[in-house]
Amino acid sequence: MKRYALITGASRGIGRAIAIELAKDGCSILLNYKSNHAAAQEAKRLIEETGGEAELMPFDVSQPDAINAALDAWFAAHPDDYIDVLVNNAGIVDDEIMLAMEPEQWHRVIDVNLNGFFYCTRRVIEGMVVNHHGRIVNISSIAGQVGFAGQTHYAAAKAALVGATRSLAVELAPKRITVNAVTPGTIGTEMAQQGVEKGEQLRIDIPMRRLGKPEEVAYLVSFLCSNRTDYISGQVIGVNGAAL
Ligand code: NAP
Repeated sequence: MKRYALITGASRGIGRAIAIELAKDGCSILLNYKSNHAAAQEAKRLIEETGGEAELMPFDVSQPDAINAALDAWFAAHPDDYIDVLVNNAGIVDDEIMLAMEPEQWHRVIDVNLNGFFYCTRRVIEGMVVNHHGRIVNISSIAGQVGFAGQTHYAAAKAALVGATRSLAVELAPKRITVNAVTPGTIGTEMAQQGVEKGEQLRIDIPMRRLGKPEEVAYLVSFLCSNRTDYISGQVIGVNGAAL
């Protein structure tokens, strides 16, 4: 039976690397993104180039109606299938010190990074529960584990993902569904580039003296989604060059 994997925020960066890796593992990829169609098409092309399968599934993870519309259409077209792998990767930053932070900034960052996890997972786990199998990986961040000025909202969302991972892992354990969190350090993507463009110094000392690569996160996610991890659940694993 074909394994379907939904990766949110897979048009670029870490999500794209995860999609490519899971496609190599034999998953058929549902490639979510918000609005960058060109980047999503390129990610799809890269997957197909190596013999993989991907279909584009654009929606905003903070909009439950949009998620439900996209997934309703997919389930209608695939009445005998379910989504066995969910990687909640979509995320944004919008750095601001608390003193200057507008409520809209707080809510937007929480909506995408945390509420998106709830909306997507709530919609997808039904199929996993019925089929007694599933893999959920939540992409948190080192920012949820140590403090960075300007990221109170982002850190709150990423730390909350860790708590949610642990609870959901316990809840879904009897159904043979694993739930784990990955906490990347600073990874060389457009998100990290935003900070560099603002003239920010690297906020943490990285003992390995380099940024991480998206693939280095993807290799771990690939393993967590494999059939070798039935007994690994509720865990939080860093990919950070020994920064924590
Ligand atoms: P990125 O290069 O900025 O890519 C972000 C991806 O998320 C894009 O595919 C984007 O789609 C998608 N996205 C953004 N908002 C969305 C929304 N509302 N709905 C659906 N998709 C949305 O980011 P990244 O660096 O790869 O980060 C990926 C994840 O890793 C995030 O959760 C981030 O917090 C986490 N992380 C990153 C780092 C780092 O240093 N890079 C460190 C720790 C954790 P479009 O292309 O359509 O905009």
